[in-house]
Amino acid sequence: MRKKQFKAESQKLLDMMINSIYTHKEIFLRELISNASDAIDKLYFRSLTDTDVHVSRGDYAINIIIDKEEKTLTISDNGCGMTKEELENNLGTIAKSGSFDFKRTNEGGEDVDIIGQFGVGFYSAFMVADRITVRSKPYGSNEATVWESEGVSGYTTDTCDKSTFGTEIILHIKEDTDDERYSEFLDDYRIRSLVKKYSDYIRYPIKMAVEKSRKKEGTDGEYEKYTEIETLNSMIPLWKRPASEVTDEEYKSFYTEKFFDYEAPAKVITQKSEGTATYTALLFIPSHVPFNYYTKDYEKGLELYSSGVMIMDKCPDLLPDYFGFVKGLVDSADLSLNISREMLQHDRQLKVMAKAIEKKIKSELEKMMENDREKYEKFFDAFGIQLKYGVYSDYGMHKDTLQDLLLFRSSNDRKYVSLKEYTSSLKEEQKTIYYAAGETIDKIELLPQVEAVKSRGFEVLYLTDDVDEFALKIIGKYADCDFKNVTAEALDLSSDEEKEALKKENESAEAMLGAMKDAIGKVSAVKFTASLGKHPVCLSSEGELSVEMEKILKKMPGVDENAPKASVVLEINMNHPIAEKLKSLHETDAEKLGKYARILYAEACLIGGVSIENPAELTELISELMV
Ligand code: ADP
Repeated sequence: MRKKQFKAESQKLLDMMINSIYTHKEIFLRELISNASDAIDKLYFRSLTDTDVHVSRGDYAINIIIDKEEKTLTISDNGCGMTKEELENNLGTIAKSGSFDFKRTNEGGEDVDIIGQFGVGFYSAFMVADRITVRSKPYGSNEATVWESEGVSGYTTDTCDKSTFGTEIILHIKEDTDDERYSEFLDDYRIRSLVKKYSDYIRYPIKMAVEKSRKKEGTDGEYEKYTEIETLNSMIPLWKRPASEVTDEEYKSFYTEKFFDYEAPAKVITQKSEGTATYTALLFIPSHVPFNYYTKDYEKGLELYSSGVMIMDKCPDLLPDYFGFVKGLVDSADLSLNISREMLQHDRQLKVMAKAIEKKIKSELEKMMENDREKYEKFFDAFGIQLKYGVYSDYGMHKDTLQDLLLFRSSNDRKYVSLKEYTSSLKEEQKTIYYAAGETIDKIELLPQVEAVKSRGFEVLYLTDDVDEFALKIIGKYADCDFKNVTAEALDLSSDEEKEALKKENESAEAMLGAMKDAIGKVSAVKFTASLGKHPVCLSSEGELSVEMEKILKKMPGVDENAPKASVVLEINMNHPIAEKLKSLHETDAEKLGKYARILYAEACLIGGVSIENPAELTELISELMV
């Protein structure tokens, strides 16, 4: 029989396919099963109007047969089937999908996903088979055709005997090589898991004879093998059922099985959207941080389905980084089965979905914050830092989305407070959100300035994460209020008279303060202050960068000598007895004043959580004073 050649384009594709180094060879099964399902759909829809079609809904099925001896894997269906002409037209040419056009726009872009570029479908089977036999008989016809091909060399067709209608695709699986194990596709366990992974929600049962073993009757511990036909797929996706009919228990076990979590999700979110993008989303917020979440290994993303068929197991473009903890899936009929990662990035549809999903997650979190505060706080303990990084990243592009989801501990019993809550309880004249930063809340509460601000009746936010202060700087203003670090020098809570008195005090002590500054050598100024309560000294900063921010910057990799430094001010409590002592030293003993200045600076460092550069010098100074 004369071999027919594939159309030129098909030949090119086949060649690529056969020699493909594509890692996801396994997707061939998904493609063949989807084709079978489409073929059954066609016959089923015909049966709705055509009285000549007599197949009851329950008889439709896709069968998978593994023959280990013959090394074949067969996928058969009782769908519409194909005539000889249809076989030649459908399998001899590839549909001219948008794939070639895509290639043009991608000129020069190397390393393109070959498979995703084309409407691969049937051809992908050549990745695992060196010969494919297709036997098909259209419903209602009594003529069956066999089509066979070994790949690029072309194909043959002939008539054949086939008792049942539908199509049977027989893959002669390639021999294993040093690099590839093709025989895995003859393993029923492997096939079953591939069906589960990609085709679990195909509407028709996918059946396979599975080898099992059981205790032999009348024996003591002897086993015998037998086969049983099993339906491998669960058919109706959970997310296709009305949310009101799905129980919490079902969502829970779906989540824990699918996303390998031992704990039920903190929140289940369902979304059905019609309009610019038609899709169903089923999303989960985990109850705890996944073990690898804060590592490079963690990959964010949602599973992507096209009408119940999985096309990607982690589509990163559907989730912004700051919601990267969300697990789940999106199912849309608008996406083609063979869309590749590269194409997805440019897909407008996908962008619309991603935007809507982001909005939905945000509003659900806001609801949780309002209606189930305890749960939200637990969520925030786990993922809050991610939200704060989200505020800070991309030059604050997402701050409007995220700022109302943030919580901070505050001087109000160390309870969590949102910016909205903080500002909604302000007195008329307060136009400032006060905060203090430090390693721990305990250390923050020891800061003299915190005590001073608290004693005047203001609430202070306690920032303990490195990113906190940076995030607030990016937010800049909230509800018309500025953010102020209570350790910033510019902070001034005193009345006009107090200010006047302080100014005089500083002016008259100018020479002494200057001498102290020179003796310390590391501060931009030494000043008297009136707002320290019982504390003798503290550190504050002038300008944009706080002492705490400088500490954090110093810890970052690659930060060198030239990194910006905070301008540190040593503040001395003008009402503390030490002030008088300093003044008298200034009159009598300039050298001692210098030593006192250095000790006081060290004290202020200690209490502000700043490390002391020269501890040996400090202990020497103290000992000297003691003896
Ligand atoms: P696609 O499915 O993307 O159109 P394929 O290469 O997978 O491309 O299949 C080409 C065509 O062959 C299908 O559109 C369909 O008409 C036909 N076909 C494939 N498999 C079957 C099948 N099992 N039964 C009937 N027709 C089929």
